Amino acid sequence: MKLEKHNIVANKLDYARGKRPAVDCILCAVTANDPKVDNLVVYRHRGWYVTLNLYPYNPGHLMVVPRAHHTDIRQLNEAEVLELHHLQNLCLRVLDETYRPGGYNIGYNIGPTSGASIDHLHLQIVPRYRNEVGFFDILSDSRVIVEEPQVTRERLLKKFEQEGAEYFLENETGRP
Ligand SMILES: [Zn+2]
Repeated sequence: MKLEKHNIVANKLDYARGKRPAVDCILCAVTANDPKVDNLVVYRHRGWYVTLNLYPYNPGHLMVVPRAHHTDIRQLNEAEVLELHHLQNLCLRVLDETYRPGGYNIGYNIGPTSGASIDHLHLQIVPRYRNEVGFFDILSDSRVIVEEPQVTRERLLKKFEQEGAEYFLENETGRP
């Protein structure tokens, strides 16, 4: 194994071993621009932000996050659900044009037995690629297609800025 070559995997192992930033809630810390957490935000809109997952399953793995500390989708009102829907579609539009994945897995982990590592509500958007490799493929050093989150962020920031302005003009939630 050559873990030093694969920072994402090494970071993920650190995370699994409990090396987490010393903050009460990592997503509230991102809302507050706390320097103790990495800023991987690619877009902000009203009460929301879109961030890369620091421990991505695949390149382009995004999370749509309410700035407020909600823990359950049922805490959102109808206007917020509509905004979330529009942000999800914007993410899909940006990812389609940037990475051209073959598909997506989209969803929430809610509650203590769901496997959620962060209780602050977040919508996960995971692009799926036809020839993607799994965690074990990476560990066995066969092939690596992962991309550093900061590299992904640079690729996506401008795209979100352009597409976001256009998207929200076309849609009823209006411009931020
Ligand atoms: Zn929070």
